[in-house]
Amino acid sequence: MRYMTTMWLPPDDAEESQMSQPSESTVDAVVIGAGVIGASIGLELARRGWQTLNIDALPAAGFGSTSSSSAVVRFSYSTFAGVAMAWEGMHYWADWQAHLGVDDERGLARFVQPGMVLLKEPGGHHERCVPLYDQVGVPYEDWDADELARQLPTFDRGSYGPPTTADDDAFWADAERQLEGGIWTPDAGYVNDPQLAAHNLQRAAEAHGGRYRFHATVTAIDHTNGQVTGVRLSDGTCVHTRVVVNAAGPHSAAINALAGQADRMSIGTRPMRHEVHHVAAPANTANTANTANDRTTQIADGDTGVYLRPEVGGNLLVGSLDPECDDQEWVEDPDDFNRAVTADGFERQVLRAARRLPDLAVPNKPSGIAALYDVADDWIPIYDRTDLDGFYVAIGTSGNQFKNAGVAGHCMAELIGAVEGGHDHDADPVVVAGTHTGLRLPLGTFCRNRIINRKSSFSVNG
Ligand SMILES: Cc1cc2nc3c(=O)[nH]c(=O)nc-3n(C[C@H](O)[C@H](O)[C@H](O)COP(=O)(O)OP(=O)(O)OC[C@H]3O[C@@H](n4cnc5c(N)ncnc54)[C@H](O)[C@@H]3O)c2cc1C
Repeated sequence: MRYMTTMWLPPDDAEESQMSQPSESTVDAVVIGAGVIGASIGLELARRGWQTLNIDALPAAGFGSTSSSSAVVRFSYSTFAGVAMAWEGMHYWADWQAHLGVDDERGLARFVQPGMVLLKEPGGHHERCVPLYDQVGVPYEDWDADELARQLPTFDRGSYGPPTTADDDAFWADAERQLEGGIWTPDAGYVNDPQLAAHNLQRAAEAHGGRYRFHATVTAIDHTNGQVTGVRLSDGTCVHTRVVVNAAGPHSAAINALAGQADRMSIGTRPMRHEVHHVAAPANTANTANTANDRTTQIADGDTGVYLRPEVGGNLLVGSLDPECDDQEWVEDPDDFNRAVTADGFERQVLRAARRLPDLAVPNKPSGIAALYDVADDWIPIYDRTDLDGFYVAIGTSGNQFKNAGVAGHCMAELIGAVEGGHDHDADPVVVAGTHTGLRLPLGTFCRNRIINRKSSFSVNG
């Protein structure tokens, strides 16, 4: 029988911990990282009665890769667990205030729901997703070519794939056929301020006694007899704890190495540079494209290799879906990479967007952001314990886990509670009950020692 958690009981010493003033030198759990994932784990543990300390090298929550996120909330993953997590995860954003249970003096991040159209082309990603939507219960409409034309009248519906780069003659060829249609998910959307979302989670954790320490770099993870005993910081401080969570984003591999776990997992993680570009949306489309009810929407376009997301103020974000023709930009040192958008990258993606939006002006001056994904070998995250007792990982988020911050925090807290309570997660992977949907979320899919998951898209689609 599978272990299924619905509620986690606090550790034995929780009562005593709550009575004594938490100290930064001894806590129940250290979370390395105050990005949206680390902040969510901190909140969920604090809610369950743990004395938590999130430690981050940067000055504030969400200042790492979270701050550059497109923060798209969609459901188009390649595995049951991927779709189930995203569907459950959306519900956290849908009532963010209720999830937090507190106010933030800076205001709350806002979930905007313009929906998303996943374009259909032969062999396209929708073929994996639609059966999973049926299984999970994600609402969608299946638009044929005529309905796509009715819904997105200003949109070029030619089929140009597979994606190419603009220096390839094939890029400029006329379409020989039309797209088959699109899969419309009305509940998809985006979060308007990803960094603020992390700050919101910080404030919520603090309301439960959770603590944060910024400008502090973890330089060592101490352990004795196979059990974590604490972390050491660059300023010489020691923090004693029996639980450490690696939520260090693109620094995840370096943190695993500090814990002596770099070679103890089948699935590795590596930082990869990505650019997202900003352009003014064409005047004839309010943002991305008009639907019949005159709403703007998001587009996932595997046929040209980009996604399009509306932005406040009439702008458009153009991101990459990692088409095979594009070079992958692996980064050796996550503290040393080109943070400027390149003219080549800008032109490549914005020209692809212009195929769909013929009136899109391609500016001479590139605009956008360059940041790092923490990519797992199969582009599926690792939410797991490790071979070092007390050392947990929430890593390999592969450019696609912002949306899952709420549910990932819940799952990690359930997992940590179960394992610290004596459950053998490796032998009998924990299945978490989704708080909002009741879906069973099988954490075995996110195991560190899985065989590479061949169902994956091996792209940001997960
Ligand atoms: C360009 C881009 C676009 C994206 N778009 C989307 C999207 O549309 N939808 C989606 O769902 N996801 C998206 N993602 C992915 C999503 O943003 C990430 O999965 C998520 O933000 C990762 O959060 P995190 O908390 O794990 O990492 P981070 O936000 O990177 O936080 C990790 C933190 O750990 C700290 N840290 C590292 N090492 C140490 C150390 N030794 N000591 C102390 N602190 C340390 C860092 O300073 C950092 O603040 C995108 C990502 C990028 C880069």
